[in-house]
Amino acid sequence: MKKLIRNVLLFFTIFLLIAAVFSSFSATNKKSKTVGLEALINQINSEQINQLVVVDNKIHVTLKNGQSEIVQKETTDSLSDLLNNFKVSPTKIAKIKISVKDNSGWNYWLSNVIPFVLPFLLIGVFLYFMMRGLQGANSKAMSFGQSIAKDFNPEEKNKTSFKDVAGAKEAKEELQEIVEFLKFPKKFHNLGARIPRGVLLLGAPGTGKTLLARSVAGEAQVPFFHMSGSEFVEMFVGVGASRVRSLFQKAKKSAPCILFIDEIDAVGRRRGAGLGGSHDEREQTLNQILVEMDGFEPTENIIVIAATNRPDVLDPALLRPGRFDRRVTIDLPDLKDREAILKVHSRHKPLAKEVNLKIVAERTSGFSGADLANILNEAAILAARSDRHEIINPDLFEAIEKVMIGPERKSRVITNQEKKITAYHEAGHALVAHFSPSVDPVHKISIISRGAAGGYTLKVPSEDHHMHTKSEFISEIAVLLGGHLVEKVIFGEVTTGATSDLRRATALARSLVTDYGMSDHLGPRTYGEKEEMIFLGREIHEQRNYSEKIAEKIDEEIFNFIQQAKDKANLIITDHREALEKIVAVLLKQETIEKTEFESIVGPKPTK
Ligand code: ADP
Ligand code: MG
Ligand code: ZN
Repeated sequence: MKKLIRNVLLFFTIFLLIAAVFSSFSATNKKSKTVGLEALINQINSEQINQLVVVDNKIHVTLKNGQSEIVQKETTDSLSDLLNNFKVSPTKIAKIKISVKDNSGWNYWLSNVIPFVLPFLLIGVFLYFMMRGLQGANSKAMSFGQSIAKDFNPEEKNKTSFKDVAGAKEAKEELQEIVEFLKFPKKFHNLGARIPRGVLLLGAPGTGKTLLARSVAGEAQVPFFHMSGSEFVEMFVGVGASRVRSLFQKAKKSAPCILFIDEIDAVGRRRGAGLGGSHDEREQTLNQILVEMDGFEPTENIIVIAATNRPDVLDPALLRPGRFDRRVTIDLPDLKDREAILKVHSRHKPLAKEVNLKIVAERTSGFSGADLANILNEAAILAARSDRHEIINPDLFEAIEKVMIGPERKSRVITNQEKKITAYHEAGHALVAHFSPSVDPVHKISIISRGAAGGYTLKVPSEDHHMHTKSEFISEIAVLLGGHLVEKVIFGEVTTGATSDLRRATALARSLVTDYGMSDHLGPRTYGEKEEMIFLGREIHEQRNYSEKIAEKIDEEIFNFIQQAKDKANLIITDHREALEKIVAVLLKQETIEKTEFESIVGPKPTK
């Protein structure tokens, strides 16, 4: 408001100044014509003149008939000299009122000075505003360093508790201890126990790390400071460190509290690794975190919780005792936990009676908590879009596929030939999957394009696996190759639709050799060092630690594995050609096949 008034005043004065200049100009040029000296003399001689006013080098002439003129004269000559020179008779002069005006009046200055000063004045005003803008930016840059940590009031804003976190039993047990520390610090101090300073939450994205940290604060009823690692890294070097400092300062003031650093790998990467300039800033920030954590008084009741999904890249100094010495791993939820998470997130969503969340949980192996929350949300949106008041099974299944593969793209126009190729391709995957005992059962086949995929075959594990054998992997590769091979058998040549299948098959075969030690020829060792380097924003993995000769052997072995898988798949395809044709016929007719119908076509899945 004040600023507005000031601006208005400023523009008003500028306006006034300009108006004054113009008016003074127009005052001097008051429609008087300029005439020569001779004309003036003539007029004097013929007694037409009433008055002469000398202003500097101008003579303002007023004639008897009321007209006015201006006559230019030399500055050095006075009017009387001039009249003498022209021999004008004194009697004629005596009849004229002559006056000399001293031209130092306000008007004069204004009219002469303003035209020169005004541009400078305007430039000055412009500069002033610019400087002020700059100053604003500057002071903003300065305040970058001060904390922008958001603090939560335990009473009002943070009501998250362990009840909101489904499953994750072990993690909750570990963290329960932290809650105790925060609630009853005396109990531990009295026994001389050192309260842990840092807890590192490890887990895949979306497994509920942030949620857990928040719920610890909620359970203990303490303030929760939340900061993401990437927020520390700014364009100015040193800002990160000063942010850390002020964050810790703030936290110390409201101890006991929880200070949560999300995505700590953004600053806590192994120091000294990486090319490019940004690691300097990261290092300083990381150092500052370490310094602050070391500087805690033993009685200070602040617990730093950090979360990351890349524990492999963390600097070892972070993991040392006295820092993040507690590590809590959060796994992807298993069947039971998935059901529990679905229950938590369906609390405020009306589900139809027929909905069984267990079936949804069964179909979502490998999904994270965030994925599951997303599925329920998508299902609710689907239900709302078709104006239902309840979420029904098809909503949920559609949501699963949407989250898994991408949204359906019914509008994508495909030719009949493309449709046929897709049907054979997917039938190939499904057939090989079905007749490979170790591969998860086929749940659905579809030739409706979805996300980037032209069609898809959905396999759902009947139980959660944690370990895999070589033959399982070979079967898995065979399934991936199934689509490509059927295309070749039926059409004689292959399409680009199999590219991603082939890429995945090759990557899997390579892992068998280089990571899992499953090659008999190359022995039980790993090949290649996975190293973390950041160069131009790209992570360069794989450091070769083997010879050219071994590299050749690896390629050979990859080829062998793929060959084995190919033979396996080919065998299944030739053995079950009839079933293949049947599947394709149904697919072309109705575009999707569900598990039961599929099994009625191809027979029950052979067991191991
Ligand atoms: P992370 O920090 O591990 O990437 P988040 O804590 O941000 O994951 O989790 C994202 C969302 O997923 C949460 O807001 C929550 O809705 C849901 N979620 C994840 N895990 C669980 C869980 N165990 N129980 C309930 N909801 C969960
Ligand atoms: Mg998170
Ligand atoms: Zn495919």
